[in-house]
Amino acid sequence: MNLRTPGPTPLPPSVREALSRDMINHRSPEFASMLLEITENLKTLFQTKNDLVILTSSGTGGLEATISNIFSPGDRVLSVSIGYFGDRWASIAKAFGLDVKSLRYEEGKAADASEIASALKADPAIKAVLITHNETSTGVTNDLETIAKAVKSEGRLLLVDGISSIGSIELKTDAWDCDVVVSGSQKSWMSPPGIAIVALSERAWAANAEAKCPRFYFDLAMARKSAVNGETPWTPGMSTFYAMQDALRMLMVEGLDNILARHHRIAEFTRNGLKAIGMDLFPADLSRASDTVTAFLTPGGVPARTVQSRLRDEFEIEIAEGRGELASRMLRIGHLGWVTEADITPVLSALETVVADLGTAAPAGQRA
Ligand SMILES: *Cc1c(COP(=O)(O)O)cnc(C)c1O
Repeated sequence: MNLRTPGPTPLPPSVREALSRDMINHRSPEFASMLLEITENLKTLFQTKNDLVILTSSGTGGLEATISNIFSPGDRVLSVSIGYFGDRWASIAKAFGLDVKSLRYEEGKAADASEIASALKADPAIKAVLITHNETSTGVTNDLETIAKAVKSEGRLLLVDGISSIGSIELKTDAWDCDVVVSGSQKSWMSPPGIAIVALSERAWAANAEAKCPRFYFDLAMARKSAVNGETPWTPGMSTFYAMQDALRMLMVEGLDNILARHHRIAEFTRNGLKAIGMDLFPADLSRASDTVTAFLTPGGVPARTVQSRLRDEFEIEIAEGRGELASRMLRIGHLGWVTEADITPVLSALETVVADLGTAAPAGQRA
């Protein structure tokens, strides 16, 4: 199966081999050195000297841990959402009793830094901004560098869902002064699901010391304390740690600049290829197009779900469904992690075949 969803992603052979290793004691020097190595490599790729805490959970656990560890019930936050995943983070904040002010953009649009600055100026009680760097549901990447400047000039905490960006799309945790950055192992990291990563600044830890939201499993201060001894508070998802150790070694050899350049190149290849076979890219404005996931609309009345199942059944290609109002015509291709152009080419040709077969081939002038 050519798995082209925006996480989970295919795994390199050596990472799959690492998954089959036998268990070790998670309170042993062997585990401690593995945890230290994973943490140090992640810090390099997060471009941070801050603490970085590793949790056994999916990425959403990292978002929840951020809320419960930074805030007290009643704290006011600004949720900047450009889609499904931004809305999820706001829902978590509401579940913990936060006072959530919402700046919600139409799907396909990126957030506007000056509107965020005005919202913060108008309401000094807002402690923090929750923002998704790369909205996986629409394939739109926010201009986080500019937004970070706006948030920081207002002196608020900046909490970033970087789950589908960091490690594939430039995100300078320290240089942009991000207080929290969250990621998940199954996105950029060529690893299976099961690990959430949370990087926290000193300002975030200061907020943590005052935060009263209930927490236990996801107590980040406890995780930080255990990490000093090379441990996790609870039994770690050992096999995912093995996998991540191996994947990170590969990523460190490739180097961050090369990784980012590869993702950009393959994203361009995907976008140009889709246009050439007559698909409408979503959004049409490509200025904030994502380098990890591309959304597109099927032409004419071709139903997206039919295209998706025919790719699966006839070509062993798995792409992701769309979300939101245009979901009946929308599909998404993931191109992050262990990916090259050779993984995308068969997707484009299968798509062209299926769409033509469904009776609404692109006009001849647009064909590749
Ligand atoms: C995948 C993703 C999540 C959710 O991660 P899970 O691992 O499914 O919990 C959250 N935010 C973004 C931007 C994502 O891409």
